[in-house]
Amino acid sequence: MGAVMLLSALAEAGGPPQELWLLDKAPLSSEAYAAAAPEHILNTRARAMGLTAATLDGFARFAASQLGGAETETASAFLPRRLYARFLSEGLERALSALKAQGWAVRRRREEALGARREAGVWTIDTDRGRLRADRLVLAIGPHRFDRFPFAVSPWALSGAAAKASRILIIGAGLTAADAAVRLVALGHQGALILASPGPGLPLAQSHEPQPPALIAPPQPTQSPSALLGGVRRSLAAAAAAGADWRAGMDALRAQTPSLWAALPAAARRRLLQSNRLLAWSRHRHRLPPQTAETLAALQAAGRLSFLRDRVTATIEGGVVFAGAGPAIFDLVVDARGFDISFARNALVKRLIATGAARACPTGFGLAPDARLQVGEDVYAMGAILSGALLETTAAPEIRDQAGRIAVCLIQDAFTRASCLPRR
Ligand SMILES: Cc1cc2nc3c(=O)[nH]c(=O)nc-3n(C[C@H](O)[C@H](O)[C@H](O)COP(=O)(O)OP(=O)(O)OC[C@H]3O[C@@H](n4cnc5c(N)ncnc54)[C@H](O)[C@@H]3O)c2cc1C
Repeated sequence: MGAVMLLSALAEAGGPPQELWLLDKAPLSSEAYAAAAPEHILNTRARAMGLTAATLDGFARFAASQLGGAETETASAFLPRRLYARFLSEGLERALSALKAQGWAVRRRREEALGARREAGVWTIDTDRGRLRADRLVLAIGPHRFDRFPFAVSPWALSGAAAKASRILIIGAGLTAADAAVRLVALGHQGALILASPGPGLPLAQSHEPQPPALIAPPQPTQSPSALLGGVRRSLAAAAAAGADWRAGMDALRAQTPSLWAALPAAARRRLLQSNRLLAWSRHRHRLPPQTAETLAALQAAGRLSFLRDRVTATIEGGVVFAGAGPAIFDLVVDARGFDISFARNALVKRLIATGAARACPTGFGLAPDARLQVGEDVYAMGAILSGALLETTAAPEIRDQAGRIAVCLIQDAFTRASCLPRR
């Protein structure tokens, strides 16, 4: 998604033409979109999902044209992620055509970047199929998925056969786990679904009706996590007392989150990211689309969905081992843990840090950006890889903002120095 937003911003800006390599190891879309089934719904209203700041309503317009409704209706709707995947793919083609029409040389490769090093001001990128050189590098690699537990199935590859299992354990209780649950129901599952997580439970729900934006007095930056949490609670309570919906209050705090987060010492941020304390924030912040929340609530009311507050430490044939409850048997185990935002096992990121080409975040989670979103000389980054530094950095609005800022920097760079074209 971030790459499409960056290319769209570059096409819109109309800067000096350059040579551009687009590397992607898989189709240009995360599993959240590429592997979405019809019942997988965006958890953001369509109006917030445009590709650039100038075309914020782009997805709402696209959806109205595809679905035949009025744009005002689609703008406030929670729409299928499959539709967004189509929007992204059309947006990519449009951005590439526009760049080519402006004289850019665009090359697209289905390759995985395995490492990159910088020598004498030039990047050499090693891929699974070869090597290329470039002046500047942008890391838009999205989140790093955990290696799947043995004996567990992927939440993105559930089949009718899987849905026949009677007692299914879903490891995780976030958006991916919710998607797995609604998928199994759509595939005809009739039995019991057990979600397990060390956190407080499923995300809370978005409201069907759009809420007016909240006016919020953000808390003061502090070095103390407890003081910050107290300040956040007081800010939200004051907004609620003034009549704001709690969700609007959370959303109003979103823009302040990176600076409040950055004010905490790196060691405190690391402890928070390693602990389960952030899961409570995440549950309020990354909410379920209303349709999904309703399906899950109906399952709970029917006694078919339950939540177990425990951590799965290992999987075994026919079951799992819980940290608290010990071994347990299930008919099927789905690994829906989501992402590893430490990137500790990401080959590309590890090599960038090891060679000094990119700065590790002092939290130990991802990379450390400067004000231009550079994480090293002539290397920019966006998205989940900046979680340790920014916390709020994985959803469309933040990634769109980052893509726009990086596009400006790339154009400034092109104006201020001669371009050494990437080449094989
Ligand atoms: C279940 C689920 C639901 C979600 N719903 C929403 C939602 O409703 N709204 C929202 O705003 N966000 C949502 N998100 C967050 C989602 O992650 C972001 O919207 C978005 O996909 C992140 O964009 P990105 O560009 O950072 O990463 P991605 O979209 O994942 O793109 C990264 C790309 O980089 C490629 N790549 C990675 N490493 C390499 C490498 N070494 N070499 C070459 N290519 C590489 C990948 O193949 C991928 O195509 C959801 C996430 C999940 C898991």
